[in-house]
Formats: sequence, structure tokens, C-alpha cells
Amino acid sequence: MDEEFRIETDAIHAGQEPDEETGALMTPIYANSTYEQDGPGEDRGYEYSRTGNPTRTDLETNLAALEGGEFGRAFASGMGSINTVLNLLESGDHVVAGDDVYGGTHRIFTQVYEEYDLSFDFVDTTDHDAVRDALRPETELVWVETPTNPLMQVNDVSGLSALAHDYDALCVVDNTFATPYLQRPLELGADIVSHSLTKYLGGHSDVVGGALVTNDPDLDERIGFYQNSVGATPSPFDCFLVLRGTKTLPVRMDRHCHNARELAAWLDDHEAVADVYYPGLESHPQHELAAEQMDDFGGMLSFEFDGSLEQASTVVEETDVFTLAESLGGVESLIEQPAAMTHAAIPREERLAAGLTDGLIRVSVGIEHVDDMKRDLQAAFDAAQ
Ligand SMILES: *Cc1c(COP(=O)(O)O)cnc(C)c1O
Repeated sequence: MDEEFRIETDAIHAGQEPDEETGALMTPIYANSTYEQDGPGEDRGYEYSRTGNPTRTDLETNLAALEGGEFGRAFASGMGSINTVLNLLESGDHVVAGDDVYGGTHRIFTQVYEEYDLSFDFVDTTDHDAVRDALRPETELVWVETPTNPLMQVNDVSGLSALAHDYDALCVVDNTFATPYLQRPLELGADIVSHSLTKYLGGHSDVVGGALVTNDPDLDERIGFYQNSVGATPSPFDCFLVLRGTKTLPVRMDRHCHNARELAAWLDDHEAVADVYYPGLESHPQHELAAEQMDDFGGMLSFEFDGSLEQASTVVEETDVFTLAESLGGVESLIEQPAAMTHAAIPREERLAAGLTDGLIRVSVGIEHVDDMKRDLQAAFDAAQ
């Protein structure tokens, strides 16, 4: 469809034309590796499924429409998409990234690409002076996440894009936490949006995937070259699952946001809780920026249980509605303790200095009834005290 539609309509229809021959409403899972050619070199748009597959094309069209972008590319995981962004750089290039980026992003930057002579500076990206100080003539990329994990810091995408562009660097935004339903970085000046489709876009904790979206045809061509050359492409079945997920993204996100807002307010008033990190709370340090940049505040929040590491572990072990697990963005609520799980590898002193205290608990607020979540957490707090 080439008319301009609202995101609720694009989520269901973009890239999703009924099949011309059979009328099948849903994109078939084109489970094949190769395609018949009419003559040598005369393919009908597809020649080999690493290079292109119709189910993947429909997903890529759908994702581009959601982000308000021209070009979408799907990958086998969020890390596959992040790796492809790094493929765009050359040895000697420099990257500025947030000091609280996703752990896998930090790992591929420092443990894989430093070996290839790329260099990285990790700074507080809410502090634009710090970002400016880190930028150098050889800086080619500014990597931004917002909201960040697990303290839900909100970064100013237009400000950071402008800073990157002053240095002719690309600004890439990992939009996994907000999703295009709440925030569209390309409209704010970013050059590329990166996704882990594993989270809200898939939305059902049943698939791992990634994507990149851009408006720049040259960038897209280079991304396509690396997508095909490196080969971290998703299977047609995985593409089908994500397409099934994106159709309900708007309704799921509405409920995630509603539940997270209610739960954040309840936790904020709770005597067992010392602090709540949720961009929707007026006490959040970047609340106003979040209100401006996002259409709502998302389904992720963290809070500080007023107790020891062991007591906070008891809380996350005792919940039933919240499942103790890493990851996020599915319909079901998840709970985790960064100090003992996702961020356990960071030395304690460093972890505390970054605000990742022993009692910190992160939740991915699902779409169950929020009253059941409150009752569940109350029982877990009681068990821990
Ligand atoms: C999960 C995640 C990734 C990595 O995605 P995978 O699909 O697990 O490879 C990248 N960025 C963020 C913000 C994530 O939450």
C-alpha cells in the first residue's frame, strides 16, 4: 500500500497484500532456498533465500512502514542487526556509545570489534557535553539507546543526532524498548534504527530476530550487501512469527503502557520500595523529554526493593504472575534482578557506582491484569521481609 496510513493500520496491512493467485490473506511461509529462473540470470525477483525470500520481504516492508522508513532489513537476531551496523565501519574508526547500552552491544563492541581496530568510548549520553567531549574527527558512529536498561534513562534523539552529524557521524538508535508505536527515531534525525524483534515486535517470547530501518538508499544498499555477505538472515518461519506479532503491536503496547503506569504509581507509594525508575513518573529525571519524544512511556520499569541482595532475590523467586527470566517485551510479565543476573559480571563497586544496587529489580510489565501483578508482588514482598 502506498498511501499514508496510521501505524495501527500499517501494522496490519503494510507488506501484507492478499496472495494474488489464491487470495490467501496471510503471507505464506516460503520455505524454500532457491527459485526457478526463466533463463540463465532471468529470475523473477528472487534467486536464493539468503539474498531474499518473499516472507522476509513482507516483514521488511512492514517494519519499514512502522518506523516511517523507506528501507527495512531483517536479521536472525538483534545482535545480527547490530553486527551489520559495525560492518559499515572501517578499521581506525571511532564510536561513541551510551555507558548503559545493552550488555550484548557492549560485548560485541569491546570483545569483537576492538580486535578489528575500531575504538569505543562509553559516555553518559544524557550529558551532551560528555558526548561532545568524546566526539573526534574519526568518530563515524554515535550509538543511542532510549529508554536504557535497567534504569530507564531517556536520551534526546534529535540532540544526539545533531551532535553526530556535526562530526559527519551516523546516529543509530536501538529502538527495542520503545518500539515505533511510541517513538520514531528516523523522524527525529537518526540515520538508522536497530531492533531486537525478539522483544515487543515479536511480542510473544517465541522468536529471536533483528532489523535495521533507514531512509538512506546508499546506506540501505550497503546494509543489504552485508546482510547477504554475512548471512545472519532470519528463516521464513521466524519472519512469519514476527509478522504475526507486529499486527497487534499497537494494542499490546497500549496495555503494556497502561499496566506499567499503574504499577509504577503503586510501587512509588509502597513502603517496601525505595525508588522507582519509570519515564512516566514525574519524578523521573527525563520525564519531560520522554513526554515530548515518546507517545507513551512503555512497559519496562525498575525499582529498588528496600533490602539486601538476598531479600531482593527472594522477591524475584516468589512471584507467580511475574516469571523469573531475562528478556522482555512479551505478553507475559517477567522479573529479574540485574545485580544477580543480567549485570552480575560487572564488579560490585562499579555496579553500585552505576546505580545498579543489590535491591534493584527490573520488570517487563506484561498484559495480564495489573491488579493480579500488584497482589503477586505484595505476596513476594511479604515473603522477603
Ligand atoms: C535483546 C536486545 C538486543 C539484542 O537482541 P537479540 O535479539 O537478543 O540478539 C539488543 N538491544 C536491546 C536493547 C535488547 O533488549
